[in-house]
Amino acid sequence: MRRRISILGATGSVGKSTLDLVERNVDRFQVVAVTACTNASALADIARRTNASVAVLADESRLSQLQQLLAGSGCRAEAGEAALTEAASGDAELVIAAIVGCAGLQPVMAAVDAGKTVALANKEALVTAGELMTRAAQASGATLLPIDSEHNAIFQCLAGSRIEDVSRIILTASGGPFRTASTELIAGATPAQAIAHPNWSMGAKISVDSATMMNKGLELIEAHYLFGLKSDRIDVLIHPQSVVHSLVEFVDGSVLAQLGSPDMRIPIAYALAWPERIATPAQRLDLAALARLDFEAPDLGRFPALRLAREVLEAGGAAPIVLNAANEIAVSAFLDGQLRFPDIARFVEQALEGSASPAPASIGDVLEIDRSTRSRVEALMTESCH
Ligand code: NAD
Ligand code: MG
Repeated sequence: MRRRISILGATGSVGKSTLDLVERNVDRFQVVAVTACTNASALADIARRTNASVAVLADESRLSQLQQLLAGSGCRAEAGEAALTEAASGDAELVIAAIVGCAGLQPVMAAVDAGKTVALANKEALVTAGELMTRAAQASGATLLPIDSEHNAIFQCLAGSRIEDVSRIILTASGGPFRTASTELIAGATPAQAIAHPNWSMGAKISVDSATMMNKGLELIEAHYLFGLKSDRIDVLIHPQSVVHSLVEFVDGSVLAQLGSPDMRIPIAYALAWPERIATPAQRLDLAALARLDFEAPDLGRFPALRLAREVLEAGGAAPIVLNAANEIAVSAFLDGQLRFPDIARFVEQALEGSASPAPASIGDVLEIDRSTRSRVEALMTESCH
């Protein structure tokens, strides 16, 4: 029996790496649904290649284009929110959650509510609705498998251990393209410089997040919800080579780490085949050739986003939603050339200062706080332009 999978965000960076593995293992996986935001031709191509039963675009205005592209293929073309939710909660056993941003929240929740195994790349969904999502997973019996390389590493290191025996987890971070840059240099960073990640090739948003180190901040919060550890038991360590993907320290002083070349196909393969393993074409580690692995403490002065995320994790309530929404808006404005690089963290900080919402009681509350934060930050940005 092949494992039936749904790939949400199939046209993106994680989506493509997933498809590469699926196409190398057609005897193990059957793709039932694939989704994308607006790119009908890329999605139709993927749907035809994988023999998916349904292809879904978030953008309803492109449905007729998708229908034309899929005519005669045997694959149904659909669009819009309800179809996206159906792709996440329908026929698949395993849902690859690889949409970027809070836009992925509702489909991920639908998969969790339906008791699926969810391979989670879409960290923003867990950051904004962590409490609600982990509770829903307990209620439905859904399993969350982290694809994010750090959390996947920790998941692997924890296998068979009791969480009470863990003294802390250590998330590694490459430090991004500006790890050694001065504050002045960072202030003038262009979008092209910010998305040029030294070790990983990823979508634009997460690449900018890696440059500001907001990515590691989101990952702190993600780790808290995935592993149930408080802030004081989650550390961040800069490791420029991205070979040690994270570490777990146990009460007896033992430290386990997961290593591998920086290729997302390794953590994705782990989630796809779990609890088994499948081969990947990822380059093997040659430690003798690497010769050294470096580690250093993060610099919260040059990278204030990491400090903000730590404060947000400790504050709880609606703060993670505000942090994420403000960051999404600011990153997109930066990529559009409307903001300077340091303004990203500055607007996130301003958004957090002006907010005091209680913890969300429902996904509706999460979406409302997300929406109101976005319009507040847009207003702040307009104000500061005048
Ligand atoms: P990407 O930009 O390359 O792809 C995003 C995908 O989401 C695309 O398929 C796009 O069509 C879809 N999408 C975008 N907006 C949408 C919307 N409003 N509605 C529905 N679909 C939408 O991003 P990526 O780099 O693949 O990252 C995806 C997620 O995985 C992010 O949350 C990111 O943080 C996480 N992640 C990525 C990597 C990586 O190596 N790329 C590593 C770890 C975690
Ligand atoms: Mg990561």
